[in-house]
Amino acid sequence: MLKILANPEDIQGATGEIRAGGTDLHDRYNMGVSSGAIIDIHKLDFGGIVENADGSVSIGANVTIDEVGQHPKIQSGYGALSKAANGLATPQIRWAASFGGSLLQKTRCSYFRHPNLPCTKKGDTECGGRKGQHSNGVIFDKGGCAHSHSSTIATALLVYNASVRTTEREMPIADLYGDGSAHDRDHLLNVNEILTHVILPPVVAGEKTAYFRSISRFEAEWPIVECSVRLLIENDVIKDAGIGVGGVSQIPLRLKNVEAALIGQAATQLILEKAARVSAENANPLPQTTWKVEIMINTILHTLEMALND
Ligand SMILES: Cc1cc2nc3c(=O)[nH]c(=O)nc-3n(C[C@H](O)[C@H](O)[C@H](O)COP(=O)(O)OP(=O)(O)OC[C@H]3O[C@@H](n4cnc5c(N)ncnc54)[C@H](O)[C@@H]3O)c2cc1C
Ligand code: SF4
Repeated sequence: MLKILANPEDIQGATGEIRAGGTDLHDRYNMGVSSGAIIDIHKLDFGGIVENADGSVSIGANVTIDEVGQHPKIQSGYGALSKAANGLATPQIRWAASFGGSLLQKTRCSYFRHPNLPCTKKGDTECGGRKGQHSNGVIFDKGGCAHSHSSTIATALLVYNASVRTTEREMPIADLYGDGSAHDRDHLLNVNEILTHVILPPVVAGEKTAYFRSISRFEAEWPIVECSVRLLIENDVIKDAGIGVGGVSQIPLRLKNVEAALIGQAATQLILEKAARVSAENANPLPQTTWKVEIMINTILHTLEMALND
């Protein structure tokens, strides 16, 4: 059954899975992993990309990833976000997929995506990934599910201290995912709660930004590790830093320890190298993911170097 919403309130009493762009949902339905009624929200107009009177920027959840990546205000003021948006998936996916859906997509673990393999996120008692093949799993392990969170955009939004608005509340982007202890969840929205907007704080002038992903092929793939960086440098000293990293934990992570190792320091190669190494301090990789720790360090270092040269 398909219900197409004309107003957000029409979702009251409806049952089924919300569909925006459908690029994640249809993949699961076609594979026989998900099934049942669909509540389509793509006609809901949450507005586009709007600069508010206080300087913040609102992005409607149904704006496409491509629109975000190409928007002049996002490119000039939120470079790490636009670079991340332009760097994920393929042009076709970015044209079809919604900004909201990119934050709420379900895990890409191959046990979850296979109709016959066990996965606690599908309601089975066993996590096939943790017990079996998990070489692209987490290196900051929070227990339960062993696969990393899939959202590139969430990692970039973390370093901007963005917040999200839903039909029920407003909260910091980090609270959309929690601390990773809700092992069967990819996000913490309630049933029939619709994400309506992402809100970015006012632009900080003069920032240097970068996004980089270490990936097993050029595109059309989720990264092994990805990183978003903001640096504010004055007189060769790093005044502020934002470091987000994806592909490494059950939730998108902001690495405050790396930021602390950068802030107040001279913007030199040696400092960047030392800070990138700090990222591994709290790593607790799985038996098959130790190889990703060095990839993470070098991904962060490379992204920092790119930001310095921005
Ligand atoms: C080849 C390929 C490579 C990819 N690589 C990457 C990558 O590197 N990084 C990355 O982040 N993603 C990647 N993706 C995933 C892609 O970004 C997602 O499929 C897409 O962003 C989902 O958006 P959508 O609008 O199509 O969501 P849908 O498929 O419509 O929905 C996805 C989920 O979000 C929920 N949902 C959607 N919108 C809302 C809303 N407003 N409120 C409440 N719930 C909602 C739905 O119920 C559903 O569970 C890739 C996809 C493909 C096919
Ligand atoms: S790692 Fe996560 S997604 Fe994969 S089988 Fe285990 S619970 Fe499911």
